[in-house]
Amino acid sequence: MNDNIKKTTPNGWTIENNGWALQDFEEQAAASSGKVKVATVWLDGCSGCHMSFLDIDEKIIGLADLIEIVYSPLVDIKQFPGGVDVTLVEGAVSSDEDEEKIHEIRNGTNLLISFGDCAVTANVPAMRNQFKVDDVLTRAYVENATFNQQIPRFGVPRLLKKARPVHEIVNVDLFLPGCPPPSDAIYYVLGELLEGRIPDPKGKTRFGA
Ligand code: SF4
Repeated sequence: MNDNIKKTTPNGWTIENNGWALQDFEEQAAASSGKVKVATVWLDGCSGCHMSFLDIDEKIIGLADLIEIVYSPLVDIKQFPGGVDVTLVEGAVSSDEDEEKIHEIRNGTNLLISFGDCAVTANVPAMRNQFKVDDVLTRAYVENATFNQQIPRFGVPRLLKKARPVHEIVNVDLFLPGCPPPSDAIYYVLGELLEGRIPDPKGKTRFGA
C-alpha cells in the first residue's frame, strides 16, 4: 500500500498506514464491543504457530480481559464472523477451500496478520511446488501407502497447483515471521496493538526462528 493511506473499516475502526499506525485502537475497541475481537485461522500449516500462541501461558489470562477470541481452532466456533478486528492466519493457501476461506477472512477482518513462515512465504507447504499435484498425491497415497492405496477424490479440498503465501491472494497488513514465531513475539504484537502502537516484530522473531 502507499504511504499515509487512511481507511475506516465497516465497524468504525481507523487504520492509518504511515508505517501501520492504528489510531486509538483501544478507544475504538471500547466503542465497538468492549473487547478487541480476535480470530486465528489455520490453513495449510502444522498448527505449530497456534501451539506457540498457547505458549503465551499465564499471560493469556491478562489478554483475555482485553480480547475476545471470536473464531479459532482453539474455540468451537464453526463460522467465521464478520467485523473481526484482528485475524492471525497460520499456513499457506494450498487448496480451493483455503482460497475461498482467505477471501472471506479478508473481507471480514480489519487487520490481517500473516502468522508464521508458512503464511509469510509458503515455507514447508511450498516444498511440493516443484512437482505436479498428481505426482504429489500418488507419492503420498499410493507409493507410500501400505493399505488402501488410492488418491482421495471426494470429500477433500482440491489442491491448487502451487501452495502460495497469503499476501499473494489477499492484502496482508502485518507480517509475523518465524517457524513458529516465538510466543513472546506473538504476545508483543498483540500487546502493542492493544496499546494503540504499531508492532515492529524485527528483533523479536525472524524467518525460521
Ligand atoms: S510456520 Fe512452522 S510452525 Fe508455523 S505452521 Fe508453518 S511449519 Fe508449522
